Amino acid sequence: MSTHLKLAVLPGDGIGPEITQQAVRVLERLAAQGHLSLTLEQAPVGGAGYRASGHPLPEATLRLAKSSDAILFGAVGDFSLDNLARELRPEQAILGLRQELELFANLRPAMIYPELAGASTLKPEVVSGLDIMIIRELTGDIYFGKPRGIRVLDNGEREGFDTMVYRESEIVRIGRVAFEAARKRGHRVCSVDKANVLETTQLWRDVMTTLGKEYPDVALSHMYVDNAAMQLLKDPKQFDVLVTGNMFGDILSDEASMLTGSIGMLPSASLDARNKGLYEPIHGSAPDIAGKNLANPLATILSAAMLLRYSCGLAQAADKIESAVRKTLASGMATPDIYREGCQRVGTVEMGDAVIAALA
Ligand code: NAD
Repeated sequence: MSTHLKLAVLPGDGIGPEITQQAVRVLERLAAQGHLSLTLEQAPVGGAGYRASGHPLPEATLRLAKSSDAILFGAVGDFSLDNLARELRPEQAILGLRQELELFANLRPAMIYPELAGASTLKPEVVSGLDIMIIRELTGDIYFGKPRGIRVLDNGEREGFDTMVYRESEIVRIGRVAFEAARKRGHRVCSVDKANVLETTQLWRDVMTTLGKEYPDVALSHMYVDNAAMQLLKDPKQFDVLVTGNMFGDILSDEASMLTGSIGMLPSASLDARNKGLYEPIHGSAPDIAGKNLANPLATILSAAMLLRYSCGLAQAADKIESAVRKTLASGMATPDIYREGCQRVGTVEMGDAVIAALA
């Protein structure tokens, strides 16, 4: 089977170029094996974009992103540019891409590989076998609601205010992503809100309940966000798909990522309504280890697998990558962030080599 894909590769800053290079090598190997055909075009973004053309999201980079089937993104962030005006800082590139491409659905799987069960700060019996999918709405909620600001009251005191807002259509749209994802997994959705206190999330709960009737094969439950934060640590394996708004999702998805031990292992997808997406590891540009062949490329390689699965409909090729990663970990290879006694310590490139060898 051969499907032609046009992919934008945006390596970004810090370890971004090293890790995306390994993911690209993996995709190229799959292409060489005849699983897909590929055109890859690379463009600068973040600090690299600013240095190349004075803006973290150069126009040519945005054009490439818009005209591609999917985007493989490394990481952005460069401490030496932190004094720039906010709109020119590297991190603005990712916000710009989300807005311009209407990437409203953020999918973050959190799963434990058997070899890494000991790497979590939770007891191995609590996390071993963990496989959950957190789905966060990405373009609405209190992060974008208006009005917002800091005003001065009559008595001279300052007051900060933001607006939490969700339209029904926005809730339905992210709800559908969650129910559809559950159909491909364990057929359970837990919707997280704060309906006991917040009107916006009462609407969220009502809309999810109505939508759930269209998916009788998926069991829907509801949970308040404070309880969800606790349950993620107490018994994370009770969840299959967890869906929530932008702010709650921001916090819960970071909490869930830590159940798995290393930030270097977790991929993510941000999708639009037609499943076009931007795929990136959940970590940042890790300037402390950049250019030293120390970074774990697996989160980016697994992001490439998500890209094939969600934006290209190539589930078999995605399975091949994920199984190659499992084989590599089982063989005892480990970058420093996941090193355990008895493992073979390897660098970024050697980890990429091992995954490619396991694709055979
Ligand atoms: P970070 O995720 O870059 O690093 C946190 C820690 O995890 C560091 O010790 C780092 O060495 C380690 N780490 C991260 N990725 C790793 C990998 N693949 N392998 C091994 N170790 C890894 O977070 P930070 O240090 O807070 O931020 C650094 C820069 O990244 C900042 O400029 C920040 O704004 C940016 N950032 C970007 C994104 C993004 O591009 N989506 C996300 C988060 C942070």
